Amino acid sequence: MSHCAYCQELACSHMEPDKLPIGCPMNTCPAAYERAEGHMEKELALGAWSARIEARGYCRWTRIEEIMELARGMNWSHLGVAFCAGLKQEARVTADIFRSHGFRVSSVICKTGAVEKARLALAEEDKIRPGQPEAMCYPIAQAEVLNELGTDFNVTVGLCVGHDSLFFRYSKGPATVLVAKDRVLAHNPVGAIYCHASYYRRLTKG
Ligand code: SF4
Ligand code: SF4
Repeated sequence: MSHCAYCQELACSHMEPDKLPIGCPMNTCPAAYERAEGHMEKELALGAWSARIEARGYCRWTRIEEIMELARGMNWSHLGVAFCAGLKQEARVTADIFRSHGFRVSSVICKTGAVEKARLALAEEDKIRPGQPEAMCYPIAQAEVLNELGTDFNVTVGLCVGHDSLFFRYSKGPATVLVAKDRVLAHNPVGAIYCHASYYRRLTKG
């Protein structure tokens, strides 16, 4: 078990490894840290640029600016944009912004492939419009297209929960989220967490 979400001590954050609380993964999962250290050497550049961007743009750069700064730092010139059909306008603006900063951009929509939802062995009632042909979301194909085009860094715009998981699983290049899909909260999912004690009390059971 690991209880970081309930930790009061934050001994890791305060660099006090002699004060680890009960349930601390640094006590319960020591081998995980050995494996992590084994990966560090090959990830130094990405780790270092992530830290530089956090410091240099702290509370000034928006996420899309951070994405571009990271790409610049890592010398990634070809960006992939994997987007939801419902956010096509936003994907276009995203591509426009990236291009205006000199990046090469390849974008690919979730409906690419034109594969009917029957491929997923779905019941008709599990479609948005039962009884009509409906293209399935094909994040595996989105990832494979961007892999083939050789993008350096992939950015998701509004992919659904689960579809994004498939995209991340098959994307060969590093990937990040620009827009996290939330149809109710205008793609601001943390709104439900902020309001968990008021409008979204229903989220917590019991
Ligand atoms: S790693 Fe340990 S000290 Fe850090 S937040 Fe988690 S439980 Fe607390
Ligand atoms: S399945 Fe998800 S990602 Fe694909 S079009 Fe529908 S909402 Fe967008």
